[in-house]
Amino acid sequence: MSGHLHAAPEPSVTVRTPGKVNLVLRSGARRDDGYHPLSTVFQAVSLFEEVTATHVAPGTGITLTVSGPQADVVPLDETNLAWRAARAVAGHTGMDADVALHIHKGVPVAGGMAGGSADAAAALVACDALWDAGLSRHELTMLGAELGADVPFALLGHTAVGTGRGDVLTPVLTRGEFHWVFAVQDEGLSTPSVFARFDELSGTAPAADHAEAAAVAAGRPGAAGRPDAADAGRRPDPGDDAGLMTALRAGDPTALGEALHNDLQAAALDLRPELGRVLEIARDAGTLGALVSGSGPTVAALARSRRHALAIAAAWTSAGVVASVWTATGPAPGARITG
Ligand code: ATP
Repeated sequence: MSGHLHAAPEPSVTVRTPGKVNLVLRSGARRDDGYHPLSTVFQAVSLFEEVTATHVAPGTGITLTVSGPQADVVPLDETNLAWRAARAVAGHTGMDADVALHIHKGVPVAGGMAGGSADAAAALVACDALWDAGLSRHELTMLGAELGADVPFALLGHTAVGTGRGDVLTPVLTRGEFHWVFAVQDEGLSTPSVFARFDELSGTAPAADHAEAAAVAAGRPGAAGRPDAADAGRRPDPGDDAGLMTALRAGDPTALGEALHNDLQAAALDLRPELGRVLEIARDAGTLGALVSGSGPTVAALARSRRHALAIAAAWTSAGVVASVWTATGPAPGARITG
């Protein structure tokens, strides 16, 4: 039968968003507002979060459930980024924040792969569609950037250069498919703690007064004597990444492997020395390039093929240095309504 003028509202909307790996991550010194100016290249990979938003009775408010690996360590209250995303859409549109959210996790939690940001991006799109709010891509991106620096990229997907806090994006054209394997650890690393250690190691930590005094007392130049400390807030130089761009455009995994770089890696290794062994095993297994993903502790290794990815995975597993091993390909698409 046809002839209905108004379709009944969908009872639920499901949105899929990808996790990411930073192919390059360069960080400047901490700015006064607490953020680090970044120059990064994100690649979305085929590990997906899925957020389902379902209508509930008016006045119910937001409810949240989570499933999937590591679901037990995900917060179920208003600190969850998906919850905050639903509230942001309601706040922006003047609608009531009545929705049941369900997250199915497919990205390691606190692994440096932006799973929480992917949930925020998915919840923005899902609530917008469920409530028929009609927000533009631009509005969703602006709301996302307020929730977290990695949220706009989870909306966009594929491969992109990120500047600012990582939230100002320029898409990068790539050819072909890259094969990744991820070494996931049981216990995550908090992004702020890794940046704090990065500041300490680079001698720009504001809390390094003691170190400064000790250095001066010992007759050494203190942090203030270093050029990068005086230049807090300097922008990282993206000019080093021409080789990476050429590799991406050519679909050349060997050249991509050589161009991988993460300024936060030393800090993550300092906090988790055992990650050094994870990197070493990947190199012994012939990876084209391995690095700590974002703020870690997940280690990403680039493989020649799916078969090679499985070989690196097997090497990690048999060495007993990982909690689990996940394979994926990149680039992967950004936020998509799947149901
Ligand atoms: P990033 O790479 O952006 O730093 P990450 O992948 O290291 O992120 P997430 O999994 O996004 O880390 O989450 C980090 C912390 O944020 C978790 O330990 C958790 O306390 C909190 N959190 C808030 N919302 C979520 C969510 N939806 N999923 C997982 N963790 C969340």
